[in-house]
Amino acid sequence: MSSALAAVPVVVQSRPAAGGCSDAPVLKERGQREVFCGLTGIIWLHRKIQDAFFLIVGSRTCAHLMQSAAGVMIFAEPRFGTAIIDERDLAGMSDANDELDRVVAQLLARRPDIKLLFLVGSCPSEVIKLDLSRASERLARQHAPKVRVLNYSGSGIETTFTQGEDACLASLIPALPASAAAAPKSLLVVGALADVVEDQFRRLFRAIGIPDVQFLPPRRSTELPTVGPNTRYLLAQPFLSDTARALEERGATRLDAPFPLGVEGTTAWLEAAAAEWAIPAPKFQAAIAPAATRASAALDRIRSQLAGKRIFFFPDSQLEIPLARFLSRELDVELVEVGTPFLHRSHLAQELARLPAGTSLSEGQHVERQLDRCRAAKPDIVVCGLGLANPLEAEGMTTKWAIELVFTPIQGYEQAADLAELFARPLVRRTKLAA
Ligand code: SF4
Repeated sequence: MSSALAAVPVVVQSRPAAGGCSDAPVLKERGQREVFCGLTGIIWLHRKIQDAFFLIVGSRTCAHLMQSAAGVMIFAEPRFGTAIIDERDLAGMSDANDELDRVVAQLLARRPDIKLLFLVGSCPSEVIKLDLSRASERLARQHAPKVRVLNYSGSGIETTFTQGEDACLASLIPALPASAAAAPKSLLVVGALADVVEDQFRRLFRAIGIPDVQFLPPRRSTELPTVGPNTRYLLAQPFLSDTARALEERGATRLDAPFPLGVEGTTAWLEAAAAEWAIPAPKFQAAIAPAATRASAALDRIRSQLAGKRIFFFPDSQLEIPLARFLSRELDVELVEVGTPFLHRSHLAQELARLPAGTSLSEGQHVERQLDRCRAAKPDIVVCGLGLANPLEAEGMTTKWAIELVFTPIQGYEQAADLAELFARPLVRRTKLAA
């Protein structure tokens, strides 16, 4: 055992508990849903891919949503905008396409920094009638090789807001260069992460002994990762099923792991890569021990604020199951109900195995029934969308906005305590208000 390990005992339990919720029954709900649409993903994606522009092809409603969700752009060169298509444009489809071509030409002439343009579809009937994939092929031909043009849908019909990222990344997969047939095995981390988190993971992988790590999405469209049968990929986000399927069609193999939330999740996630690269356990433990120990100590300081509190998750971000696992196993929070919009059993297998046996799981949404169950259970904290948070606060409940968990860097060791704080803070505030 290395000296680092001798000084720092192994701090994590990264194996799933026996039992868990692997085969637990799941309440399937269908009904009215209270979620944002996939356009919302643009808010974090436009910050991540720095030479991309997201042109929403939508209505005034879409423009208003983006403006209020992202805040008014105060810097000179925003990286998203809305081409508003209204009924007038549909008088002739060719007019709408001409209008789109004109808007794109104008935008690209004014903004030579744009190297990747996403046309983002939306759900108004005016837009659904437009064939955006043909439009993007046409525009790609017109503006190649300076600008790559792709398209995806951020429509709010039958989607939830994190699927916008999934659709965006899936649209990028065919554009990824193929890795050389004889190339050695390489690791791809999939899912938008804050740059600071990406840098931490890069350093950790290097310390573990896996120096060749690529990230999707990249920070610049000129740095697209390569993909092929030599690619092993780790999902950094639990809502990327279409992206995963597209990667596998290119020959990549997913490494089965929980998600890098909290000390346990981060360790097991890193460990999945370490096992694939046959990294010796002492080397792995020595590489992670300093950060894992710091994170465990930081969680110890917050645990008393959360231990024994009862939490109810409405289905919203698709992060619910990994968050519930983190809160229950590392902070002793009691899970009243864990709702998720979609339950991808294989991507979440390692998470389900770690949930306490008997956890109430639900998939999909029937908001009225869920509200009834939530009110009856009287949880200490409710994780839900913005539309439900205000009414529930008015009823005296403490809430946490699910969308904040997507906007905030929460993955990895250094962010574990910040993640716990996101749940502790509203509870502390409520206690102070009640005092
Ligand atoms: S895509 Fe649909 S749900 Fe989203 S803002 Fe536009 S109209 Fe609303």
